Formats: sequence, C-alpha cells, structure tokens
Amino acid sequence: MLNQEWNIKPRKLACDQCQAAFEDRQPYMSRLAFTDQGYVRSDFCMQCWARADQQRADAVSIWKGEFATPAPRPENPLKTENVETLLRGLMESPDPARAGARYLLAIILERKRILVEKSVVDRGNGARTRVYEHRKSGESFIIEDPGLDFDKLEQVELEVKTMLSGRDPVPAETAQTSADSGRVEPETRQGNAGSEDTTGPDT
Ligand SMILES: [Zn+2]
Repeated sequence: MLNQEWNIKPRKLACDQCQAAFEDRQPYMSRLAFTDQGYVRSDFCMQCWARADQQRADAVSIWKGEFATPAPRPENPLKTENVETLLRGLMESPDPARAGARYLLAIILERKRILVEKSVVDRGNGARTRVYEHRKSGESFIIEDPGLDFDKLEQVELEVKTMLSGRDPVPAETAQTSADSGRVEPETRQGNAGSEDTTGPDT
C-alpha cells in the first residue's frame, strides 16, 4: 500500500467541471480515480456528470451526495470529537499496524452518524477499501477494511480504547486480549445513506 492512498479527500465547494459553486442541498456526483498520485476525488454537478463519459470510465468508485453549506460546528459531545480527532490523526501517518484501529474508528463514527459509507472498492484477493463521507464537511475517508475476525476485533477494541484514553497503545498485533466491556461490533450498521443534517445521539 502506498502511503498516499490513505488520505482524507475534501469535498469541493464547486463543480470540478464547470466551476459553478454548489448550493445548499444540491445533489452532486463524486468520483474516485486511481492515478500516479494515488486516489483523486472529483465532484461534479449533475449536469456535468451527465456528459462526463470519460470521468465515469476512469472511476474506481462513484457515489452520489447532497451538498451542505459549511456551517459552524455544532457543540458535539467530547467523546465523538475524540474519536474523529483520533481517526484523523491516524490517517495522517498511515501505519499499516493501525489499519484495524482506523477501520474500527470509522465504524464508530458511522454509528454516530458522523460518517456515511458511500462505496466499497474490491481490491482483489479479499481486500476491500471502504469510502466513507463525512456528513457535515463532505470529506471522503478512504479506509482499508482489514476483515477483522472476532478475536482480532477484541484486540483492536483494546488498542482503540487505550488511544482514546490518551495512553500510548500497543498495536493490536502484539496486544494482549482482554475481556473488556463496551464492545463495538462492526455488524451493527445503521444503513443510512442519506444526508439528513443530524449528528445523532452520543453515548
Ligand atoms: Zn458542473
């Protein structure tokens, strides 16, 4: 995996084709292409997308979104902030040993309705990459899905809890398994691909 593949891609404020600024609640199409520079995201208004045959052909992933005018961040409970901050930090320095932690944090944020899964890219040999979109900012988070089994999941949960508590964690590869509470199960999905302007309750 090239490091630059693990990245956060901002949503544009305007169509990449015609440069017209997106308006609040305007639908748009996003395309992810894989280039020499890694993943490149482009956003299009619906009119441009209807004519963008080559853009479609080059895509590894396509999804539809609805633009939300950037607004001041609402008061969020500290815990959600911490989870998002931790994920962003882990994505800046894409350590392969933290792939499980990045995936688990993305799932937590999906359950909290911060992120919405938009696309799954099959990379062959069972490897998957999941594309999440941030409901408020429209950024796409490109997350490797390491296919955690149940035992491994427990280790990753411990790793994430340790990081959220501010301590220096041991990567899940070498962490001791711990029968701990507060499990996060990736099977639990909210399945909401819409873009309602809600943050959801924090627990
Ligand atoms: Zn356009």
